[in-house]
Amino acid sequence: MFTDKKAFKAAFLQRLEQSSGLSFEHSTLQHQYQTLGMMVREHVSTNWIASNEESRKGDHKEVYYLSIEFLLGRLLVSSLVNLGVKDLVEDGLSDLGINLSELEEAEADAGLGNGGLGRLAACFLDSMASLSLAGHGHGIRYKHGLFEQKIVNGYQVELPEQWLRNGNVWEIRKADLAVEVPYWGEVKWTEKDGRMIFTHEKAETVLAVPFDMPVIGFDTERVNTLRLWGAEPAKHFPPHKDFMQYKRDTEQISEFLYPDDMSDEGKILRLKQQYFLVRSSLESILRDYKEDHDDLTELHEHVAIHINDTHPALAIPELMRILMDEEGMGWEEAWSIVTGTISYTNHTILSEALEKWSVDLFRPLFPRIFLIIEEINRRFCEDLWEAYPGDWDRIESMAVIAHGFVKMAHLSIVGSHSINGVARLHTEILKMREMKNFHEFYPDRFNNKTNGITHRRWLLQANPELTSLINETIGTGWVKDTEKLNDLVKHADDAAFQYKIDQIKHDKKRILADLIQEKNGIQVNPDSIFDVQIKRLHAYKRQLLNIMHVMHLYNKMKEDSSFKPHPQTFIFGAKAAPGYHYAKKVIKLIHSVANLVNYDPVSKDYLTVVFLENYRVSLAEKIIPATNISEQISTASKEASGTGNMKFMMNGALTLGTLDGANVEIEELTGPEHIFIFGLTAQEVMKYEKHGGYHSYDYYHGDPRLKKIIDQFTSGFFPDTFYDFEMISDSLLMENDQYFLLKDFDAYVRAQEKAAEAYQDKKRWLNSSIHNIARSGYFSSDRTIRQYADEIWGL
Ligand SMILES: *Cc1c(COP(=O)(O)O)cnc(C)c1O
Repeated sequence: MFTDKKAFKAAFLQRLEQSSGLSFEHSTLQHQYQTLGMMVREHVSTNWIASNEESRKGDHKEVYYLSIEFLLGRLLVSSLVNLGVKDLVEDGLSDLGINLSELEEAEADAGLGNGGLGRLAACFLDSMASLSLAGHGHGIRYKHGLFEQKIVNGYQVELPEQWLRNGNVWEIRKADLAVEVPYWGEVKWTEKDGRMIFTHEKAETVLAVPFDMPVIGFDTERVNTLRLWGAEPAKHFPPHKDFMQYKRDTEQISEFLYPDDMSDEGKILRLKQQYFLVRSSLESILRDYKEDHDDLTELHEHVAIHINDTHPALAIPELMRILMDEEGMGWEEAWSIVTGTISYTNHTILSEALEKWSVDLFRPLFPRIFLIIEEINRRFCEDLWEAYPGDWDRIESMAVIAHGFVKMAHLSIVGSHSINGVARLHTEILKMREMKNFHEFYPDRFNNKTNGITHRRWLLQANPELTSLINETIGTGWVKDTEKLNDLVKHADDAAFQYKIDQIKHDKKRILADLIQEKNGIQVNPDSIFDVQIKRLHAYKRQLLNIMHVMHLYNKMKEDSSFKPHPQTFIFGAKAAPGYHYAKKVIKLIHSVANLVNYDPVSKDYLTVVFLENYRVSLAEKIIPATNISEQISTASKEASGTGNMKFMMNGALTLGTLDGANVEIEELTGPEHIFIFGLTAQEVMKYEKHGGYHSYDYYHGDPRLKKIIDQFTSGFFPDTFYDFEMISDSLLMENDQYFLLKDFDAYVRAQEKAAEAYQDKKRWLNSSIHNIARSGYFSSDRTIRQYADEIWGL
């Protein structure tokens, strides 16, 4: 049905009428979208079945990527791109009077993630399938993804997200493969032939039902599976409980994605979610495995299980439980299989983000799992005692259970054969600082896997015009081997090529300007510098530094009428966790500054501030191709990698950033002349943190620009904000500016000046832009996944 246009149109019309019961004339965009989605699913079903058969034969290793988040975004166009039929479909639909871009808008984003961590999981799925690797995802089918953000009078309001309102064409519910997940209850043990036999009794059981989605690779017959688990009432519900109450408690488990990017609130529910994911995934993985293996003794040779951060770390004690309680293995044998099977990615060194659970909460919820963790801890501490006799401090700091808490990162390190960071700097900090003791004890386990992004979504799909230009210039080989993008360097000074690059960027900026006009009612100048910071709102990401720079430019224009900066549009997109008050104040501040500079006759033709609400994958796809400057200004050492930075680079934006996360590697690849680096290094930040010596008041008193800005926060300078910004001012002064904004301010202003100056030398700017595109091939997640496959999973 996708072989030629005529066949496609005929099939489309026939299916549309069959499935909607309406004539084509009366069908809506939603019907049309659903129809095309069903056609894609049907088209890949043969290959999906074949891929599953191949897995069942068991002659290659399978990887299972466990993640509490998958930030997929929309799937229609990326599927068409990967199947190589997008042009044909677009053309055929256009004959019928349907615009594919409009149709695309009928699909809801699958927003089952908060940000970078969840989006990484989605990029990895795409790369595993596209490299024809047998790599599957397991996650939770949240009924409501990350909240929908509305801005009301400059304040964030959260609405429940409803991506399933029109159903989900990509999923298939597999009720026959449902599994039961037990919580609470008690553990009983008996002795039999000298072995302890454990049973879990009086548990409250929940049914986990799998919903499978095909993961379609690019130019491959491989179709992998993303299995998302939904919670439903089990057949045997607890007799003592009211059914409605039980049903509500049960369904709650897969009702909402936790909107908290970093910390863990609503603790019992969150813990229930984690075990729900782990228990059901492992049961399904092992059931498949046992179809062609007699027992689990060689599991680690055929199966790799990867845990994306510590949220699925219960996979470690859960696999121990299965191997011992169900398969009858002894501890040592089970332990070597578990550590041989499981590998772990660490995503953060922010200590407040490291998961730990109170034993009082944990033990009653998972009585058997807790006993196993206690034994893991006991044996681990024994090993430590042998290696470091008498060194109580060290042992205490490394224990899996300490001071009444289960430490999930420690469990993950002890129970897996590989621990990786997500950018070189991040891995070095893990090894040398945060996890120094563990690195000393397990030096071979630690390794780096710098993050990547799928160029298929972030370049081929998001920017087809740039894709075509690259194809015309260096051929199409780069699509399969992104290192070939390096060939573009030869064309960096070619005037005709530069002209075309410029045209594409300008077109994308006009389209984004139209969107901003439509959404925000703000007119932006497409010839202004589009300076973009889109990411979750967090103190360490320093959106505040960005907006303070805008205030500085505004103040300077007010003071000095001869100062006319190059017109610049500052575009923000960011969700704040609902309970993160500081972050919400920063959102309000951005709006207050926008209301000032966008309308003051002195500044309005030079400075424009735009906050695009409800930042998500589909919005990122529209903003990134239109960006000139990519703001990556986190306090050095705090951003583990960043992946937004890579998407921008690949679309020809220049990075303005700190030497943090993967920015370090971006700078190495582009060379210092094609990036604007400023501010403290990670070393310097960590030195201040360790030894003190930073006093933010010195900068407040010493730099009149800063004094003026900070005073404006609380002086009534912004109308109608009352005491809104006191918290911001306090964070900078009373709390001694934990993220060094004041310290980095001057360097940031100068980096901005350099960037604005560079922008005005068009040839030079385009040369840099081309260098960025050319050097971005390294950041394809295909490279990242090849490294995971070779160095961690042993595929
Ligand atoms: C890529 C992406 C992120 C991660 O952005 P960072 O700048 O790396 O924090 C977050 N949210 C969405 C929707 C993304 O596409």
